[in-house]
Amino acid sequence: MKDTTKILRAKGLKVTPQRIAIYTMLSHTKEHPNAEMIYQALEPTNPTLSLATVYKTLCLFKSSGLVQELSVGEPSARYDAITTRHSHVVCTCCGKVKDLSPDPFGELRQQATPFTDFTLESEQLIFYGKCPECEKTKP
Ligand code: ZN
Ligand code: MN
Repeated sequence: MKDTTKILRAKGLKVTPQRIAIYTMLSHTKEHPNAEMIYQALEPTNPTLSLATVYKTLCLFKSSGLVQELSVGEPSARYDAITTRHSHVVCTCCGKVKDLSPDPFGELRQQATPFTDFTLESEQLIFYGKCPECEKTKP
C-alpha cells in the first residue's frame, strides 16, 4: 500500500483509494485482467468503485507508463503492471493470458530493424494455444 502511494506520487498522480486499489491489484496478479475483471475483483471491497472509474484509471495509468495494455484479440484490452517488454501466451479456449517466462525473444525489435524504414518503438509478441487445464479437459 505504502509502495503504491509512492509509485503513484512518483508519476505525479493524485493518490486516491481507487487508484491505490487498482494499481495494487494489478501489481499482485499474473492474470493480465481486463477492466471488467478488475472491477469484479475490487467492487466487493470498494463499493463506491464504478466500471467507468476503472476504465479512466487504466487509461491514466497507461499514459503515465504505470501499466502496459495488451491486445490479445479480445474486445477488451488486458493490463499488465510489468511494463518492460515481454512475450505472452494466450489460451484460445479459456482466454488465460500468461507471461512467456523466461522470454527468449528480447532482441526481436533489433532483429526487425534492418527490414523496415520505420523507427521501431515497441512490439507485442503473443503466442496462442491451449493451456494445460484446457488441454486436459478437451473432449
Ligand atoms: Zn485454457
Ligand atoms: Mn505480462
